[in-house]
Amino acid sequence: MERALNLSKVNRVFLEEVKSSHTGRTVPYCYQCGTCSSSCPVAEEMDIKPHEMVEMIKLGLTDALIRCKAIWQCTTCYMCTERCPQEVQLTLIILGLRNIAMREGAVIPEAVKESCKNLYETGRLVTPSRFQRQQREKLKLPEVLQVDTEPIKGMMKKTAVAGILEVK
Ligand code: SF4
Ligand code: SF4
Repeated sequence: MERALNLSKVNRVFLEEVKSSHTGRTVPYCYQCGTCSSSCPVAEEMDIKPHEMVEMIKLGLTDALIRCKAIWQCTTCYMCTERCPQEVQLTLIILGLRNIAMREGAVIPEAVKESCKNLYETGRLVTPSRFQRQQREKLKLPEVLQVDTEPIKGMMKKTAVAGILEVK
């Protein structure tokens, strides 16, 4: 079930984080040239384009940013960051937005939750399917190794992911 966001808290936390981080301090240098969005392989699918995200941070439009689909559609390819003439750290900014969204209880896409669950339970984001395992056998490839999940579980329990997966 969607949890209600405490926007005044989200805004305060968000702005404090933006101001205090190296990443966030690059935001004011954006002059809206749009290079990031025109370089982004998934911009067409995004509800908020990368250059718009930067402007929205400047305007303090936190709510829409935390709730948008675009922060989860980013593939973290770093193309926007590489090509930005002002060295705005857009990829890291998007990762930061994801962290805040997780922590503050915004709606997380099912696919992301599934990946988190896989990581928690198996130590892998994607678990090999039966077909893939059969193919490996056919090609005489070694079996996929089991991962020791205890350290991963320990780390994940200390993050907001634990709340999403409802593990203690
Ligand atoms: S490429 Fe850099 S300067 Fe240009 S709009 Fe994007 S973030 Fe702003
Ligand atoms: S890092 Fe994300 S926002 Fe930047 S170009 Fe790649 S997909 Fe687009």
